[in-house]
Amino acid sequence: MSRFFEDFSLICDKIKLTSSKLNKISILGEFLKELDDEDLKIAIKFLSSQVFPPWENKELQVGYSTLVKLLKDLTLTDDKTISSLLVKFGDLGEVAEYLYKNKKIEKPFFTKKLTLVDVYKILNKISDLKGEGSYTIRKNFLKQLFIDSSPIEIKYIIKIITNELRIGLSEGLIEEAISYAFNKSSGDVRNAYLLLPDLSLIAYHAKHNTMHLISIELLTPTNFMLADFMDTASEIINYFQKELICEYKYDGIRCQVHKKDDKVKLFSRRFEDISYFLPEIVNEFKKIANNFILDCEIVPFKDGKPLPFQEIQKRLHRKYLIKSIMESIPVKAIVYDIMYYNNSVIDLPLRDRKQIIKCIKFGENSEEAKYFWVKNSKEIEDLFNESISKGFEGLMIKDPDSKYTPGRRGRYWIKLKKEFNTLDVVIVAAEYGHGKRSGVLSDYTFAVKDNDDLKIIGKAYSGLTDDEIEEMNKRLKEIAIKDLGYKIIVKPEIIIEVAFDSIQKSDRHDSGFALRFPRIKRIRYDKNVDEIDTLDRVIELYNRKRSFYT
Ligand code: AMP
Repeated sequence: MSRFFEDFSLICDKIKLTSSKLNKISILGEFLKELDDEDLKIAIKFLSSQVFPPWENKELQVGYSTLVKLLKDLTLTDDKTISSLLVKFGDLGEVAEYLYKNKKIEKPFFTKKLTLVDVYKILNKISDLKGEGSYTIRKNFLKQLFIDSSPIEIKYIIKIITNELRIGLSEGLIEEAISYAFNKSSGDVRNAYLLLPDLSLIAYHAKHNTMHLISIELLTPTNFMLADFMDTASEIINYFQKELICEYKYDGIRCQVHKKDDKVKLFSRRFEDISYFLPEIVNEFKKIANNFILDCEIVPFKDGKPLPFQEIQKRLHRKYLIKSIMESIPVKAIVYDIMYYNNSVIDLPLRDRKQIIKCIKFGENSEEAKYFWVKNSKEIEDLFNESISKGFEGLMIKDPDSKYTPGRRGRYWIKLKKEFNTLDVVIVAAEYGHGKRSGVLSDYTFAVKDNDDLKIIGKAYSGLTDDEIEEMNKRLKEIAIKDLGYKIIVKPEIIIEVAFDSIQKSDRHDSGFALRFPRIKRIRYDKNVDEIDTLDRVIELYNRKRSFYT
């Protein structure tokens, strides 16, 4: 029989209550050891906030307001009390536990004791509901789940639904707990996870000693290879001391194309299936022979020229794709790498993978990325200027002998960008503006990463279009965790790229630094919080600037 959900919830509480990472790993590891295969996968899905992997296109579609309404009805609590409890606890799950402990809840005489499988099955059913009447059925399923729950269970059910476990368990610690439970090296678990971004399957393979069988697979996304940065052409030449491959840095959306027989799927950097929004590219790849996985940039392209990056967002961030949008924003897939061609080719050097790309006969909506061989910094600088004059973002310089290493930021791909002073940061709070912007969340406080922490580094007011501000307001309100009246604190989920003039030391923010004249360059839909810039990068930029002036 499946383990009780209450046991799982108690383990979560235990993990939360210890601040020692080693204790967290051993508590979870011991628990995982005892689970059968199905429970193991479910527990990991819940713990890693990935009830459904993003590429399955499954969503719970349960909003915060539905959960609050159910809680209010079941515990006979008014809006005002819920709001003040939310401010006090800052977490809806904690509020629910408090209410269940302190209010009388009408329950039938007999309630079911929930198991891990029960909870997972109900969430699965809810996500499968579509169309007319689905809202009511979804609410009824949830209501039953709420009625069957004890205080600690309702806390974790809500935390799982809202993707906010908050028990101090990072992805890295879950990986460590898997290696602890099944006696595997953490390096092996990490490598397997980089190839197959689904920890529940990694845990299953670790348990059955089959991790060595994990490989990249058609129709399941793998991590993308990452680039590092250098600031000048001569730094790059000095570092590699050999002939290099150089490509334009296209300003679009990173995309993994998977083709298996008559099926084609396009995945974003966050592993979402974005095929629906790019039908002309899907259809074109369907016609190409062989099975493959490609790495490419989807670029808005019209009359032989790239359109501004914002155009591609208009295509992807909408409910339905309409013909006029497809016509006004034509797109092209510019292919720069290949990971699979009838079998995995990630271990071949880039120079050989480039030859394999040449076997593919592209159509009118796709092409191989142009590349050049460069030997010295003058050649890189000339190509850089050429790239900018053609409307691209800079250059990517690549080591021709490098393997394709999913998810690793090795020094094999180097980016050289037009704008030196930019950082990818995450929004942690938003304030209402004044004058024309009163009532609109238009001032954003943002942070960089400092190991497992976030440190605030600045606030930005400008850079977004009116449409983007409107959309941003919607998203920010959905992820608000605390309402302070003039300002909301939000879950750190929205990544923005900010440009700035310089970095200064400052005690205004907890990072110890502040950006001068920050402005938002773009919203980075493609990045998640793990991929933002770090405090170390800020310090590096600060020191570099300082030595430049002194
Ligand atoms: P950044 O987003 O600034 O960290 O730069 C890395 C991104 O550049 C990648 O994730 C790709 O989306 C994009 N990119 C554009 N052109 C290329 C290229 N030729 N090779 C690799 N990545 C590229």
